[in-house]
Amino acid sequence: MISPTAENNTSVLVSGASVSGITTAYWLNRHGFDVTVAELSPAPRRGGQAIDVRGPALDIAERMGVLDTIRGHATGLRGMTMEDRDNNEIFRTTEGTATGGTIDSPDVEIMRDELVGILQRTTADSVEYLFDNAVTGIQQEEDTVHVNFKKSAPRAFDLVIGADGLHSTVRRLVFGPEDQFTRRPIGNRYIALVSTPNFLGLDHWEILHRSESGHMGGVMTVRNNTELRAFAIIVADEPITYDYRDLEQQKRIVAEQLHAEGWKFPQVLQYLKEEASGFHFQAMNQIHMDNWSQGRVALIGDAAFSPSPASGQSVTVAMVGGYVLAGELAAARDHRAAFAGYQEQLRGYVAENQELALINVNKAIANDYQDFGKPVDSPALKSY
Ligand SMILES: Cc1cc2nc3c(=O)[nH]c(=O)nc-3n(C[C@H](O)[C@H](O)[C@H](O)COP(=O)(O)OP(=O)(O)OC[C@H]3O[C@@H](n4cnc5c(N)ncnc54)[C@H](O)[C@@H]3O)c2cc1C
Repeated sequence: MISPTAENNTSVLVSGASVSGITTAYWLNRHGFDVTVAELSPAPRRGGQAIDVRGPALDIAERMGVLDTIRGHATGLRGMTMEDRDNNEIFRTTEGTATGGTIDSPDVEIMRDELVGILQRTTADSVEYLFDNAVTGIQQEEDTVHVNFKKSAPRAFDLVIGADGLHSTVRRLVFGPEDQFTRRPIGNRYIALVSTPNFLGLDHWEILHRSESGHMGGVMTVRNNTELRAFAIIVADEPITYDYRDLEQQKRIVAEQLHAEGWKFPQVLQYLKEEASGFHFQAMNQIHMDNWSQGRVALIGDAAFSPSPASGQSVTVAMVGGYVLAGELAAARDHRAAFAGYQEQLRGYVAENQELALINVNKAIANDYQDFGKPVDSPALKSY
């Protein structure tokens, strides 16, 4: 493996400071690359539900020296109940939860923004961060990439990595409009999240509900019982058209879809109306692309191959992707060979994780949470 102090004078811009972007930045920096990360938000973006760090991602976190810190921030749920429309308990288990899997597994369930914060702190001193900024233009030449920014002067880089999520700007600028890459294998499903106070007084617990119209609701304690994270998986008859930047419009959509539902939806909708911190809404779509790179630009994470939140694997696949992409760049030292190696190693793994989304949805419909989100076999991680 290349030592942390190795120098190779290759400059890389990473667009997006979330799981895939920061993991890529960490490993590129460790291999001696000169890394800049541009992020739209003024700081690592807040929000999101509990997500899972599993299998090979645990190994990568350990190699990054952050596994113990990640474990220290685990949600620590003790179990879950299912409830009906009138809040009657219909099922209870202390063996696992729908969001986090088996309680005694080595996998870690952690709040998305806490994970991003931990990863970002490992790179804060070694990587240049351009927060509150964004790529607005990319022109590739034979041996360089010219990049325009929203809030700073144009710069040239050797390589650009698009880690800017489902609605990636880098993908749009280099590969074309989003629609051609979006797939809906699990139908018209949307996830909505909001933070509330722990108005149910739960203790490290999750409650789930599936309504007669097919929507799912959930509440779980986070941050040591001081908050609840409430979520809904909305199943719509037709695709819902929305502007992913317009939070008020998204809140109206959530309210319209859930206004006639029972269970705890009325209370959650009230919080959504009055004090919606941590609100997030997204289509549970996947991204499928034939090529994850073009010239000196490559995509990673949700931008390249979102497996959908329904897979339970988005974070793990993003971390594996960042590790492999940076490792291949370090090992090959030629970006064409490295990008080809990255795609070759991960293509099958990504496809299996994308299939998992549909398997999970069918299990949820059948109320079968056994092995829900079960990780698929990952490629053996090379030591770069
Ligand atoms: C706010 C939020 C909440 C989420 N909540 C959940 C959840 O509850 N459950 C779940 O399964 N998944 C959730 N996700 C998705 C999950 O984080 C990803 O599937 C996974 O972490 C892999 O992510 P990624 O790093 O590839 O992309 P993402 O995590 O989506 O991160 C993309 C990053 O790029 C930034 N960005 C976007 N556009 C630009 C631009 N033009 N220039 C610079 N930066 C840009 C974004 O602000 C963000 O920080 C959420 C994502 C976000 C952004």
